[in-house]
Amino acid sequence: MILERNIFEKFGNNLSKNVKLSNYSWFNLGGDAEYFFKAKDQTQLKMFVKFASENNLKTAVLGAGSNILFRDKGFKGAIIKLGKNFSYTKVIEKNIIDVGAATLDRKTADFAKDNNLKNLEFLSCIPGSIGGAIIMNSGCYESDISKVLLSIRVLDTKNFLEKDINKKDIKFFYRGTNLSQDFIILSAKFKCEVGKKDEIEKKQIDLIERKKLSQPSQIKTCGSTFKNLSVNRKAWMLIKESGCENLTEGDASISKKHCNFFINNGNAKSSDIENLINKVKKKVLEKTGVNLELEIKIIGD
Ligand SMILES: Cc1cc2nc3c(=O)[nH]c(=O)nc-3n(C[C@H](O)[C@H](O)[C@H](O)COP(=O)(O)OP(=O)(O)OC[C@H]3O[C@@H](n4cnc5c(N)ncnc54)[C@H](O)[C@@H]3O)c2cc1C
Repeated sequence: MILERNIFEKFGNNLSKNVKLSNYSWFNLGGDAEYFFKAKDQTQLKMFVKFASENNLKTAVLGAGSNILFRDKGFKGAIIKLGKNFSYTKVIEKNIIDVGAATLDRKTADFAKDNNLKNLEFLSCIPGSIGGAIIMNSGCYESDISKVLLSIRVLDTKNFLEKDINKKDIKFFYRGTNLSQDFIILSAKFKCEVGKKDEIEKKQIDLIERKKLSQPSQIKTCGSTFKNLSVNRKAWMLIKESGCENLTEGDASISKKHCNFFINNGNAKSSDIENLINKVKKKVLEKTGVNLELEIKIIGD
């Protein structure tokens, strides 16, 4: 009760209670967040994480929700989302841009293009935000975030201090990094190459078209469910090889166009998606000996 009064006194305008997480995940699934905090700016974010730590309130950071399955029982604690002051793009040197962590990947790609800067075209195919893209080392078509990143600015939720981290001090691997879970990414600097706007635009359009041909769109999904093993052993190949393509659970199924995309057909529960994941994992292990690793993040109680 005291916590509740204090938390609303301090953060009232930017805080809500019992917020449906289904509205914040591309799966359109998940129960309620006990608290949902939309940080106005860095000072308020810092105050909030300090308050949460002092009051033993569990927190989790949400980007654009294109890679998160929230569980049906929701999240006991506070989901933190970066507000609109964290969404910006600036050219800071001829070929270097500074981007707020809440900026959508697509917007970042367009900004680079409009400033005749190339190498971020792949971001126009990824539906997340820059914070999520860095945590996931997101990428496609031979490009990924690690190839263009210069540095990030983070808030350390253990000591409430901000710091810059150079790319050379971050270990990037396929769809992940060794960044501490204590960090909230605030912004990132990217190094591009100067190019020609029309050529950059053409590349963007080509990549988007390529994606449309190989992946389903207009569905409730978080993209690839499992990580690929290698270029020649992709998760979808193993799922197909193991005869899992037609498996279903409740109203959850697997995309006919790309069998590593799991879908909420409208009335699924998060548990249906999770049960389907476990069914596929088991069958793939039995048939191929491969223990598939999740790419999507599952959050909740
Ligand atoms: C249709 C579709 C197609 C996709 N195609 C691709 C693809 O081609 N390549 C690819 O790599 N991915 C793809 N994805 C997956 C997804 O878009 C990426 O993983 C994306 O980068 C996630 O970003 P997000 O902002 O949505 O992160 P979220 O899903 O919100 O979060 C993902 C993780 O990042 C953390 N996080 C988010 N923001 C921050 C922050 N500021 N600080 C600290 N932690 C943070 C979250 O806590 C969570 O652990 C696709 C998804 C969909 C739905």
